[in-house]
Amino acid sequence: MDVIPLNEPTTDAALDVVIVGGGIIALASAQKLLAAGRRVTLIERKGIAQGTSFGNAAAFAFSDILPLAASGKIRQVPKWLMDPLGPLSIPPAYALKIAPWLLRFWREGWPDRIQHSIAAQAALMRLAESEMALLLAESNLGGMVRHDGSLELYESEAEFAASLPGWQARSAHGVTFEHVRGDRLEELQQGLSPGFVAGTFVPGWQTVSNPYDFALALGRAVQAGGANLVRGEVVSVVPSGAGVDIHLADGRNLTSVAAVIATGAWSRRLTDPLGDRIPLETERGYNTTLPPGAFDVRRQLIFGGHGFVITPLINGLRVGGAVELGGLDLPPNFKRSEAMLAKARSFLPGLKPEGGQQWMGFRPSLPDSLPVIGPSRASSRIVYAFGNGHLGLTQSAGTGRLVRDLVCGETPSIDVSPFSPARFGKAA
Ligand SMILES: Cc1cc2nc3c(=O)[nH]c(=O)nc-3n(C[C@H](O)[C@H](O)[C@H](O)COP(=O)(O)OP(=O)(O)OC[C@H]3O[C@@H](n4cnc5c(N)ncnc54)[C@H](O)[C@@H]3O)c2cc1C
Repeated sequence: MDVIPLNEPTTDAALDVVIVGGGIIALASAQKLLAAGRRVTLIERKGIAQGTSFGNAAAFAFSDILPLAASGKIRQVPKWLMDPLGPLSIPPAYALKIAPWLLRFWREGWPDRIQHSIAAQAALMRLAESEMALLLAESNLGGMVRHDGSLELYESEAEFAASLPGWQARSAHGVTFEHVRGDRLEELQQGLSPGFVAGTFVPGWQTVSNPYDFALALGRAVQAGGANLVRGEVVSVVPSGAGVDIHLADGRNLTSVAAVIATGAWSRRLTDPLGDRIPLETERGYNTTLPPGAFDVRRQLIFGGHGFVITPLINGLRVGGAVELGGLDLPPNFKRSEAMLAKARSFLPGLKPEGGQQWMGFRPSLPDSLPVIGPSRASSRIVYAFGNGHLGLTQSAGTGRLVRDLVCGETPSIDVSPFSPARFGKAA
């Protein structure tokens, strides 16, 4: 699919709802607001889904309710950090800058915080699943979704045993899964290295045929539904009188009844001046998309101990993941994509590694692994929707539904206090 041409903004009349950003969160918010009868203008500086929503791993991971700071993962951090191309890395140039965020992240791993985070994430995931089903039906996109589940793989009995408390926690929130071995494992995925002793099959996991195609198709659907998709870089969003003023980098100004800030990992540039100091960071992720025929992967394969996944897409096989806490400005280090591809070859010995395309994306992440969905302290007419971290595609429709509720002044579909922009305290 090609790009969606963006219009020029019109400044002659007051607008209804302006959404800043053109990623999956902005698009799903547009879809939900249109369904509520609102008039939507979406402003994107580069192009629809040219940010993090372009090249992710394509999963609707509705069962992924554990925060990243959950103790099993925290214990692996020292081992991961020893390997510069391992699942987690912090470039020296960014280590000091990220230290306060890491401290908060570590605090989120304490038992009291974990339970709070799991309950909030589980509620958002339930909403995300039902709202995604609605979005797919209303936008006629159901044909882009595969319903073949995921398979998490373990290389040792110790790794499998360490995963069990996490599965127990998911089970308590209604997630269904099946631990598998031997023939059943082979049936779910042929050609695996004999090094894998067990797996967990999650049947409710879904994947889209390709995340960029999916976002573009949603972009076209909201355009057909009346949204005006315009090009522009927003430099500030400020409350004014009965509405909101939106200033663009080229000097043009727009006014609207309400505004939504859905600018992913770049959102602090707009929210800091409004008095909300939100510890948004980016967890940079890497992958390689191999051409069709690289290997017959039946469903998304998850190598949790190595921090990456393999997803079958309509246009090939995507191998990647990992976390690099390196901020928005350092250049990418594609040795990380290569390292994951080399591991993938040893896990799937018949994999053809040639002809891949590498990509790096900026996950917008908060230390408690929960997004920011709620009003700015400057005005309830400015609603934030960002910070969905590893789960933005999964949570897009649920986030969009909450945006719709907040913008329309309705009682939110779930308790939004865990996602409040104010939960980290006031700006210094
Ligand atoms: C390797 C990797 C794998 C992933 N896999 C999955 C997965 O399988 N499932 C899942 O659910 N999630 C996954 N994610 C996470 C998911 O991709 C993100 O959470 C999601 O794309 C974030 O969407 P967004 O709309 O918030 O941000 P983005 O897609 O980054 O969109 C933000 C947009 O705002 C625009 N913008 C920024 N500032 C301005 C401004 N001032 N004015 C105008 N426009 C502006 C940008 O150009 C950009 O287009 C993955 C991420 C990575 C990196």
